Amino acid sequence: MDAGTQAGTWLAPAKINLALHVTGRRADGYHLLESLAVFTRFGDRVEIEPAETDRLSISGKYAPAVPADDSNLVVKAREALRREAGSHATPPVAINLEKNLPVASGVGGGSSDAAAVLRGLVQTWRLDIDDAELARIGLSLGADVPMCLAARPLIARGVGDEISAVEGFPALALVLVNPGIAVCTPEVFKALASRDNEALPPLPGKLDFHTIRNWLEATRNDLEPAARAIQPAIGEALKALRKADAGFARMSGSGATCFGLFETGNVAKRAALDIRRRHPDWFVAATRSMEADAHGQD
Ligand code: ATP
Repeated sequence: MDAGTQAGTWLAPAKINLALHVTGRRADGYHLLESLAVFTRFGDRVEIEPAETDRLSISGKYAPAVPADDSNLVVKAREALRREAGSHATPPVAINLEKNLPVASGVGGGSSDAAAVLRGLVQTWRLDIDDAELARIGLSLGADVPMCLAARPLIARGVGDEISAVEGFPALALVLVNPGIAVCTPEVFKALASRDNEALPPLPGKLDFHTIRNWLEATRNDLEPAARAIQPAIGEALKALRKADAGFARMSGSGATCFGLFETGNVAKRAALDIRRRHPDWFVAATRSMEADAHGQD
């Protein structure tokens, strides 16, 4: 085997759309978006090690909810990179996906898994592929994969692939809540009342909990009303976050996962305990968003 191999574990963080405006629609039917997104310390984990043959195993709470065959984005990411680098440089690997994120839930789990595999395999296989090239391969797997490769506070435009990093964005204490229902993203887009909404307002010059909360009050998730009409349980999740004193609560992506913003990590943890006690069947996680790149190898 002439290619070097290196085992390791990579985080596939949850992507949280703090704000998401639908600003138009392309001729090919794709929606144009503007979104401020952050990535959390809570996420899936992707473990990669050299093996005799390619293998995928899946563990974690949500393992039964994802396909374990070639349709899994983990396998698609591995094969996309192998096509690019050539089979001589990409020997077989065993990948374990620890699926901690709810599936089809608006937190970009599949896209983040694909991004973590791309990042992990570039290191495992010691490939000479730069970030721009990796983003291009990522985009072939899904519109959200390039932003998951960046995995830092950012504003995404276009179909989600035009990314500008937001410098100086602080780590936020968040609680993620999913009332245990999957949401079909195309159905939500189909149900939108308006597709030509105004762009995001400019971010405040000084970025802290208070200025960010005020900015969020002046923004929207344009997918939230349509998703709530399809899945009223989303309203229950938002109500539970507000009842637990979230400084701000909103749905992420096309739902159903909602986030609450809290002033400190301790308050967020207490709120998460409270919500979990009242709703033992829901997915509830207290976490922090990351200021910079999340994929660093453990
Ligand atoms: P959104 O794009 O609105 O944020 P989502 O990205 O949270 O939603 P995913 O959890 O990525 O949605 O799931 C989307 C679909 O992709 C599911 O129907 C699932 O079966 C399929 N899928 C394939 N591979 C994966 C994976 N590794 N993790 C999650 N879903 C996967």
